[in-house]
Amino acid sequence: MKVPFLDLLAAQSQVQLEIEAAIKRVANSGCYILGPELLNFEAEFAKFTAAKHCIGVANGLDALCLALKSAGITTDDEVILPANTYIATWLAVSQCGAKPVPVEPLKDTYNIDPEAVAAAVTNRTRAIIAVHLYGQPADMDPLRKISNQYGLFLLEDAAQAHGARYKSLPIGSVGTAAWSFYPSKNLGAWGDGGAVTSNDPDLVEKIMSLRNYGSSVKYVNDVQGVNSRLDPLQAAILNVKLSQLEAWTNCRKSVAAHYSQGLVGSGLVLPAVRSWADPVWHLYVIRHPQRQKFQKRLKQAGIETGIHYPIPPHQQKAYANAGFSKGQFPLSEQFSKEVISLPMCPAQSQQQTDYVIEKINSLA
Ligand SMILES: *Cc1c(COP(=O)(O)O)cnc(C)c1O
Repeated sequence: MKVPFLDLLAAQSQVQLEIEAAIKRVANSGCYILGPELLNFEAEFAKFTAAKHCIGVANGLDALCLALKSAGITTDDEVILPANTYIATWLAVSQCGAKPVPVEPLKDTYNIDPEAVAAAVTNRTRAIIAVHLYGQPADMDPLRKISNQYGLFLLEDAAQAHGARYKSLPIGSVGTAAWSFYPSKNLGAWGDGGAVTSNDPDLVEKIMSLRNYGSSVKYVNDVQGVNSRLDPLQAAILNVKLSQLEAWTNCRKSVAAHYSQGLVGSGLVLPAVRSWADPVWHLYVIRHPQRQKFQKRLKQAGIETGIHYPIPPHQQKAYANAGFSKGQFPLSEQFSKEVISLPMCPAQSQQQTDYVIEKINSLA
């Protein structure tokens, strides 16, 4: 048996024809930048996240960066963020000229540790970024408390968490969140895409302007903005897929539930889920002390896996001059050597999931 890590075509097969029809509609509309398709998706995604506003942008990195810029984050500001995240979270901070201040995750959920955040606050701290890693909500209440106490901007990197809930509220319904629609995300376009959701009208106005050359009236430029708009073509595709997202999320939840039941005695470190968390299982990440060998054996059995992520940002060459040293973030460094993401696809069959469980139990 073959179990792919993620089969995008299989996952979207039910809506393939609808997507093609939407593409044709945009092709025949003569409107290829901004316009009604984008407005429609922005309204639907705002509804989905229970946020007041949604602004479509070109990708997840821009969503993070424009949200930070709109909140006034600038040169020499410090932004506290996870040491164990995809590098985009860090790059957004660096692109504002600000300094990423990494903190360690909690040992069991891999999400940012609020106590570590509190300990990292200095008089130059201006913002905190919480990443809902692997689709599991971070613990927002203590982070909100810290950000209120020190007057910090709290941004959620929700690139992996479309539809996730924290204490029964959808991610996006409180505060400001940045989203990615990279094809392999839970809601993915046929190309790059991103969005910011927010309940703050001033912030929303600034992002709308920044994404469009710093202009809200054509040929009048108030600030030095960028070109970062979500294409109407992608918006139309995303709108079709959004109608299926809940069903796809339920499939992911079912795969995750089977893994969690079937792998209890495997000796692997399985994901921990807090009682208040409703994760959407962008990834199902386990840990194995001899990952390379384990991954190779799974591959020989036809099971494709992923690693998220093999090198933490502070150990990347890109941050070689930022003054970090090896061993400075021991948990993040350890996890980067041990994590493996199991196959996770809304179209994954029960037989495929059972096969993965059976193989792991015979290998681990
Ligand atoms: C994918 C991702 C991003 C970046 O999104 P792009 O659309 O690829 O720019 C940012 N943060 C996290 C946690 C991600 O997983």
